[in-house]
Amino acid sequence: MEKSATERVQCLIIGSGPAGYTAAIYAARANLKPLLYQGIQPGGQLTITTEVENYPGYPDGVQGPEMMIHFEKQAARMGTDIRFGLATKVDFSQQPYKVWIDDEKLIEAYTVIIATGASAKWLGLPSEQRLNGFGVSACAVCDGFFFKGKEVAIVGAGDTAAEEALYLSKLCSTVHMFVRRNEMRASKIMQERVQRTLNIKIYWNTETLEIVGESKTEAVKIKNNKTGEEQTIPISGFFVAIGHEPNSAIFKGWLDMDEAGYIQTKPGTSKTNIEGIFAAGDVQDKIYRQAVTAAGSGCMAALDAERYLGEKGIH
Ligand code: NDP
Repeated sequence: MEKSATERVQCLIIGSGPAGYTAAIYAARANLKPLLYQGIQPGGQLTITTEVENYPGYPDGVQGPEMMIHFEKQAARMGTDIRFGLATKVDFSQQPYKVWIDDEKLIEAYTVIIATGASAKWLGLPSEQRLNGFGVSACAVCDGFFFKGKEVAIVGAGDTAAEEALYLSKLCSTVHMFVRRNEMRASKIMQERVQRTLNIKIYWNTETLEIVGESKTEAVKIKNNKTGEEQTIPISGFFVAIGHEPNSAIFKGWLDMDEAGYIQTKPGTSKTNIEGIFAAGDVQDKIYRQAVTAAGSGCMAALDAERYLGEKGIH
């Protein structure tokens, strides 16, 4: 078929992280003949992590990229049509819903499962990019274990940073926490917990200038914005926890979202405000953000889509 020709499908899945592929496995097994577009980063955020030790079923752990190849293979084996391409525009005004891929190809779909994920925000330092995966991480729960007994630093002052600092404090000898203002954004209770934890050292009004190291993280250079004082602290791990951005921009105006752009689903379901449009994984979850919870919500979305198609009598 020509690339520009319109295709019509029962179930279109956008995204190829744990949520998208799990939705695909269930939708394919339910004979919905799903079509899945992988997006800009096939495999999603797990392809930029190293070892995954907290996904059940892998007793010896697994590399993130390898796990996502397993997900993809399983979805393909069940009969999912998996393609490389980015959803760039949608029209959800009426059935069948319209989704444009790479600004040219039009897909018409009776159900759409949005599993476009979220992207971690980064500071934007060249050293942060260079050492990403070599001591620099945006996920303490994924990578904290590798710094057991060592000194680490974390930047951020929201609930995620507080939660991750507490998580790291149980594993690491010292957690240096850099807060850019003289107060934290995190909820009071989380702030109190952080401040009560003896091996978390908070640096107020502090900016990260550079992460030091050639092939691995060795230290971090910081500056106090009030006094101008600069300091270099030896560390093995540097965690960035300054927020995530849900990849939901193309759905703005169609779907209900919170102020940060997370798609809102009806509690206990994957349903959005438009019937037949479902959301799964990190694009609708700012709290848990784990591979296993994303996979679970992908399963829910496929079951919700199957039920919807059945109720509408669409085959
Ligand atoms: P937030 O947007 O709440 O916080 C981001 C933090 O990073 C802020 O403190 C911000 O500083 C700081 N920051 C942003 N950019 C920079 C930068 N360039 N340099 C240094 N610091 C920077 O994100 P979170 O991920 O923490 O939380 C997102 C949402 O999820 C929140 O609503 C939160 O409450 C919720 N959440 C709830 C949890 C729970 O209930 N258990 C757990 C985790 C998250 P500043 O304050 O100066 O702007």
